Amino acid sequence: MSRFLKEKYNILEAYTPGEQPRDGEYIKLNTNESPFSPAPEVAQILKKSDIERLRLYCDPCSTELKASLASLYNLESENIFLSNGSDDILNFAMMAFSDKGAIFPDITYGFYPVFAELHGVEYEEIPLKADFTVDENDYISKDKLIFIANPNAPTGMELPLESIEKIIASNPDSVVVIDEAYVDFGGTSALPLISKYENLLVVRTYSKSRCMAGARLGYAFASKAIIEDLEKIKFSTNPYNINSLTAKLGVATVNSNDYYEAKCKEIISVREYTSEKLREMGFTVLSSKANFIFAKSDIIGGEELYLKLKERKILIRHFAKDRIKDFNRITIGTKEQMDIFLENIGEILKER
Ligand code: PMP
Repeated sequence: MSRFLKEKYNILEAYTPGEQPRDGEYIKLNTNESPFSPAPEVAQILKKSDIERLRLYCDPCSTELKASLASLYNLESENIFLSNGSDDILNFAMMAFSDKGAIFPDITYGFYPVFAELHGVEYEEIPLKADFTVDENDYISKDKLIFIANPNAPTGMELPLESIEKIIASNPDSVVVIDEAYVDFGGTSALPLISKYENLLVVRTYSKSRCMAGARLGYAFASKAIIEDLEKIKFSTNPYNINSLTAKLGVATVNSNDYYEAKCKEIISVREYTSEKLREMGFTVLSSKANFIFAKSDIIGGEELYLKLKERKILIRHFAKDRIKDFNRITIGTKEQMDIFLENIGEILKER
């Protein structure tokens, strides 16, 4: 740290992303990426892309991409916001709507408290119930900026849409952010509610179900007024926050929707298979609606299992946080990858 850093950033604890190893080949089940390649049409766009165009700035409004998303989801372009990954949108939401403070669960996406700290927002982390579900009553009439990841991470568990609607309806003077990074793996979206509630912001990403984490593309749906606010923040920070290549790949992705829906079904089926096999080996596996599962064993601790798998070139995610330190978050890969993972788990348990 230099002596020039603003005092308020001295104590800031930055977010720690999952490992992105550079030391050889791993079966990578640690950051909820897709094991599948982007659709053939997306690959074509990349091959045909005109390098000469990179000379020019991109369209700061991503007009074409907004129009294609609007047509897929039956909305108007003015209901859509785009940014450099959905982290960017969550950050903007924290900047824009947090005058009265923010609340979110104690076990959820680790970036929410970091954004709150970054912007000096007062926040409260509300404990999940003992079974790791969200208690809707904790969020009724709070009149604060609310963040709920649905399905939640790292648990993978879903809060029913009726509960989400009650929370939104009871906080009419505050924004409710529903982070749907993992909704495409069997969850129920709050998207139909945006025409009904002007305080709802639904945030999505291309990083998981759209197999494009490295391209950095996030999108959000909301009332036109909320989108205008987010645009104001974007145009006050980085107007060109989506590069021209990513925007084109985004359009091709929308055009290949069937491909991605089929891949999501495959992930769901491998998720159920993996959960079942782990339960047969004595693991507790939370019921997941995401592309990962959250599991613990009574035989081996969470950190030890993570380290033993890493030695075997398999990466999963362990969080050294009190309530969940016995668990690991395991991204669902291909059936072949999960079979190798399960075989290794079997061997590790036998060693004990
Ligand atoms: N929300 C949740 C719940 C996540 O787990 C992630 C991925 N780390 C994100 C948002 C951000 O994803 P991205 O910035 O890649 O769109």
